[in-house]
Amino acid sequence: MISAKMIRMTEGGSAIRAMFEEGARMAARFGQENVYDFSLGNPNIPAPEKVREEIVRIASETDPMELHGYMSNAGYPEVRAKVAASLNSRFGTDFTGDNILMTVGAAGGLNVILKTLLNPGDEVLVFAPYFLEYGNYVSNFDGVLKAIPANIEGNFQPDPEALRAAITPKTKALLLNNPNNPTGVIYTEQTVRAIAAVLEEKQAELGTPIYLISDEPYRELAYDGKEVPYLTNYYRNTLVGYSWSKSLSLPGERIGYVVVPPACDDARLIFDAAVIANRILGFVNAPSLQQRVVAECLDERTDVAAYDRNRRTLYEGLTEAGFTCVYPDGAFYMWMKTPGDDREFSERAKKYNILVVPGTSFACPGYVRVAYCVSYDRIVRSLPAFKKLAAEYGL
Ligand code: PLP
Repeated sequence: MISAKMIRMTEGGSAIRAMFEEGARMAARFGQENVYDFSLGNPNIPAPEKVREEIVRIASETDPMELHGYMSNAGYPEVRAKVAASLNSRFGTDFTGDNILMTVGAAGGLNVILKTLLNPGDEVLVFAPYFLEYGNYVSNFDGVLKAIPANIEGNFQPDPEALRAAITPKTKALLLNNPNNPTGVIYTEQTVRAIAAVLEEKQAELGTPIYLISDEPYRELAYDGKEVPYLTNYYRNTLVGYSWSKSLSLPGERIGYVVVPPACDDARLIFDAAVIANRILGFVNAPSLQQRVVAECLDERTDVAAYDRNRRTLYEGLTEAGFTCVYPDGAFYMWMKTPGDDREFSERAKKYNILVVPGTSFACPGYVRVAYCVSYDRIVRSLPAFKKLAAEYGL
């Protein structure tokens, strides 16, 4: 018999993945162009041309024994140094390569951080709504995920007072995702300062570090010139998990990094333990070719303007149809209020070949997530279907 924990997981499944598969079935039945699949955060914009060029160049110019071999579990020293220098020039930080651990995407990085920090029963706080995989990542290490209810009145900015009330002597970390999946909200500098102040106060009161884990795969996806605060500049005990999955459209390549800043409590110990975690979780090291590729593409940017066009057209279309949405400042998700139960709504939407993910899948019922990392054409063609759906609800 397999593990009891895994039995529960096979029973639970992933609503988002199930929907993705349903989308494929619907496309086979009705034709791709007649299915409005907004379920998955899989970027539709190709990686910048420079990524392909570097893959070809590096693969043809590097000695294969060197290119495909194992390296230090933390990653290539020269790659880590380049990542550190790039962060320093953008955010005024003081990292060196010794603060950077190359990882298998953000998912790999978060698992490395949690393995490094958690004893069984330790609590990890998160603001709802949140990426539901967090619960699985925390449970991998027998931690306890505690969700702080969504601050709907505050337009989904985290509420520092709710954070204060949620912290207990068992709190090991707060996991923060900015820009946010699923709301598209950017947590402002004011919010970040207030969160940092609560964490400082509480860790002093409890006499133990409380780590802030910054999950930032959407960092570069910000619109209208909005700034995404760099959290290590606001709170000493911050650990960063980054990935190029969304920023360079490389989700299948599994490449990212973790930052353990020098000012963090126990920085060296955390880093050394994280390197071991990377190895013994079975990642061993981040993919060798991709490490070299991203190191040459640190100044490359995806086509944010294309996502922005999708964002504006979808927002206008949905509000015109009568829906209420949070106007997203970042990432590529629209957070839409449902007239009635969100699961029932997403089921009804399928009648019009629309696939959206219920807010319940992000621990926040009453909303759905509409992922607009799709072709502009799909957005335009979907709007009459959304109008019909709205009419069903009398909007
Ligand atoms: N964190 C959030 C909030 C995400 O939305 C995702 C992916 O969708 C991840 C982490 C995992 O990203 P990666 O592909 O880099 O593992």
